[in-house]
Amino acid sequence: MKNKKLVMIPGPTPVARSIQDQMGRETVAFGDPNFIKDFKELISDLKTMWRTAGEVFVVAGTGTMAMEMAIANTLKKGDNVLIVSHGFFGDRFIDLCERKGINVDVIASEWGTIVPVEEIESKLKEKTYQALTVTHVDTSTGVCAPVEEIGKMASKFEDTLFIVDGVCATAGEVEYVDDMGIDVLLTGTQKAFGVAPGLGILWAGPKAMERRKSLGTIPEFYVDFDKWLPIMHDPAKYFATPAVNLVWALKESVAIIKEEGLENRYARHQKVAKAMQTALEALGFKILAEKEHRAATLSNVIYPEGIDDAEFRKTLYEEGMVVAGGLGAYAGKMFRLGHMGNIDMHDLVSVIATIERALYKAGHNVELGKGVGILMQELLK
Ligand SMILES: *Cc1c(COP(=O)(O)O)cnc(C)c1O
Repeated sequence: MKNKKLVMIPGPTPVARSIQDQMGRETVAFGDPNFIKDFKELISDLKTMWRTAGEVFVVAGTGTMAMEMAIANTLKKGDNVLIVSHGFFGDRFIDLCERKGINVDVIASEWGTIVPVEEIESKLKEKTYQALTVTHVDTSTGVCAPVEEIGKMASKFEDTLFIVDGVCATAGEVEYVDDMGIDVLLTGTQKAFGVAPGLGILWAGPKAMERRKSLGTIPEFYVDFDKWLPIMHDPAKYFATPAVNLVWALKESVAIIKEEGLENRYARHQKVAKAMQTALEALGFKILAEKEHRAATLSNVIYPEGIDDAEFRKTLYEEGMVVAGGLGAYAGKMFRLGHMGNIDMHDLVSVIATIERALYKAGHNVELGKGVGILMQELLK
């Protein structure tokens, strides 16, 4: 019998049955009173749970669209932006901002490490930056930025907005908008929310909304806060057709999160990450991110000597699991393993067991069950 395919890439992540059911519902008119009520409740929950006195936007599109939406509504041509990059997705802001004619300064870390907060602070003192961008978890490195610490520091700079890319973090890593000094938090549905890809979510705090106002008319149309704000306040209004079934799916994901408790969910992600990483290290792998700055949502796993990446991932696939390859200089040297969202104990045990089988089939000296044992010991703590 063939194995089920476990999708353990860093997004899309496994979609729970109850969320899939929402996507399979009969699509109604976006003006349907029940849909309007559901959409309203979703916006209100997102605002309360992630704690902002500002606004929330839920718009059809990917995480990258949400990045563009964040920049379009806060910066204009000729402004200065400081981009803190911990990898591939941090760098994505460079092209995005340069195309708008924004002056870009970048501080990048070596992959696997972070840019120290003091370094960001001294750069912010050099000149006025209208915004600072930080990727909470850079999916290419598995590094988690100290967002709370950066936010505290950055809030001393009145003219600077703190923009956080939470695409691989939100609903998995500890994140609260106003409390952490975040002005714009953006994410997508397919990572720690465990919904299919297709929606961008964006929180804009009071300072960001003031900035939007000061910009007047912006060149962008679809991602303009001003176009969407009336709909977010009253979904009975129309600007562009909401993704009805995905909105329901996200609402179900939020219901799952509420039932678990956001704090419990954060704690679960931390526990799972530590267990996964301890098990993987015991099997001879190395984790790219330095210990103090490891993400809870995914692990970037460097192969032991003698393992061929393409061959290994092909075996994993045959054994019923999909992981992602390494990016940049780490292509061929590591794989990326998502462990975020609505995954359960069955999934976790299977993940390590599948990796053990693939190591065994690669002729690697592996004690079958060793990783699984360590994983369960860690998870039962
Ligand atoms: C996945 C990801 C993105 C891009 O999201 P898409 O939905 O693929 O456009 C941006 N930033 C980070 C940190 C990501 O992990």
